[in-house]
Amino acid sequence: MSILIKNGLVVTQNWKREVLKGDVLVDGGKIAAVGHVKSRPDEVVDASGCIVIPGLINCHTHVAMTLMRSVADDVGLEGFLEKTFAIDSKRIPEDIEVGAALGCLEMARSGTTTFLDLYYSEDAIAKSAEEGGLRAYLGWAVLDEELTTQKGKPIKNCEAFVKAYKGKPLVKPVVAPQGVYVCGRETLAQAKELAAREGTFCHYHLSETRYEVYEHQRKTGKRPVEYLADIGFLSKGDVAAHGVWLTMSEVRQLANAGVAVAHCPTSNMKLASGGVAPLPEMFAEGVTVGLGTDGCSSNNGLDMFLEMKFCSLLHKSHRWDASVLNAQKCLDLATIDGAKCLGAEKQLGSIEVGKKADLVVIDCNTPAMTPTTPENAVANLIYAGPSHSVRDTMVEGRFVISNWKATTVDEKKLLRKAQDAAAALMSKAR
Ligand SMILES: [Zn+2]
Repeated sequence: MSILIKNGLVVTQNWKREVLKGDVLVDGGKIAAVGHVKSRPDEVVDASGCIVIPGLINCHTHVAMTLMRSVADDVGLEGFLEKTFAIDSKRIPEDIEVGAALGCLEMARSGTTTFLDLYYSEDAIAKSAEEGGLRAYLGWAVLDEELTTQKGKPIKNCEAFVKAYKGKPLVKPVVAPQGVYVCGRETLAQAKELAAREGTFCHYHLSETRYEVYEHQRKTGKRPVEYLADIGFLSKGDVAAHGVWLTMSEVRQLANAGVAVAHCPTSNMKLASGGVAPLPEMFAEGVTVGLGTDGCSSNNGLDMFLEMKFCSLLHKSHRWDASVLNAQKCLDLATIDGAKCLGAEKQLGSIEVGKKADLVVIDCNTPAMTPTTPENAVANLIYAGPSHSVRDTMVEGRFVISNWKATTVDEKKLLRKAQDAAAALMSKAR
C-alpha cells in the first residue's frame, strides 16, 4: 500500500535540517521518497497549507496514569506521591488498560508516535498501545520485592513480559529499575543482567529531586550517578529520566557510559523540584538528551509540543540567555535526538528515505499557525502551540489519526469508558 502526502511543507529533520516544499511517498510502512515525487500511489493525501514532521518521541512517561489527571495538583513531590500512591493502590488491570488507551489517543492526537513508558502491568499497556497503533517502548518496573505492590517478584514479572513481547513489530520490551531509592544493589544487578541477556536496555528515574540525591548520599556516601558508575550499573543504551540534580562530574560519567537522559521540564517545574537539568553542559559533554512528559498526574497532559515550548522557555529563563535551547534544538530533542536515546536513529526521528513512516501532518490553516512559511515553520512548531492543529498521525505507514478522526479506536466510547473508570477509581480511593 503506497500513500503520497502531497504539497506539504516538509520539516525533514535530516542532517541538513532541510525544510522542503513537496511530497512524502510512503510505501510498505517506510518512507520511499521525499521532495517532488512523481508516482502513482494507491492513495493521495493533500497536505497543502500543512507542515509535515517526523512523529514526536516521548522519552519518559507513565501512560496509564491518565486516569489520575489533575488529582494531585499544587503540592510538592511528597504530597503528590502520597495522593497518587493512595489512588494507584486501588487500581485494577482494566483501569491500566483504559488509562493507557486514553493516553495513546491523547498522544496520537498531539503528534506523538513513539513513547517510552515505565510502569507495572506493561502487558495491559502493550495491548492498548497495539490497539491504538502507537510505537511503544515499555519498561516493566523492577524494584525490591518488599517495596512493591506487584504480585510476585518484580524481576520475574519483568522477565516474563520481556520474553513474551520480544520481536513484536510496534512494542519493544524494556527493563525498568524504578530508581535507586527503591532498588538495592542486588535488584539493580538483576535488572542489568536481564536487559543484557534479552538484548534490550534499562530505563530508570535518576536524580529527580535534591532530597533523593541527599538521601542516597547519606545512605551510601555517594551521589546516585557516582554510585551507579561504581557498581558497574551504567551502560550504553540506558535512558535515565530527569537528571536534574547532577554535578559536572556526574554529567561526564553519564557521557562516558553512554547513558541518555530524558528531560522532563514540565513535571520538574510543576512539582517544584527546584534546580534545572544542566542541558547545555550535557550537550557540551556529549550526553544524548530526549524529552519526556512524565506521567499525566504530574504534567497534566502528554503533549510534546507543550513540552518543547516549556523546555525552551525554562532554560532561557534560567540561564538569562534567550539563545539557549532554540526552536531547532527543541525540535531535535523531540525527534532525532529522542530516536538516538532509544537507539533507533536509523529507523526513526526524521523524514528520510528508508526510515519508518512515522509522520504527522499539521494543518496550518488556523489562526494560531498563520502565517507559516519555510523560514518560520520550526519556530511556529515550538512557540505557537500547534498540538490542536494535528490533522493526521501515521505510525509505520498506517494512519491512526486521519483527517482529524481517530481510526484505530472508537473515540467517543473510549472517552466515556475512561471517564467512568476514573470516577469509580476515585470513589474507591476516597
Ligand atoms: Zn517518571
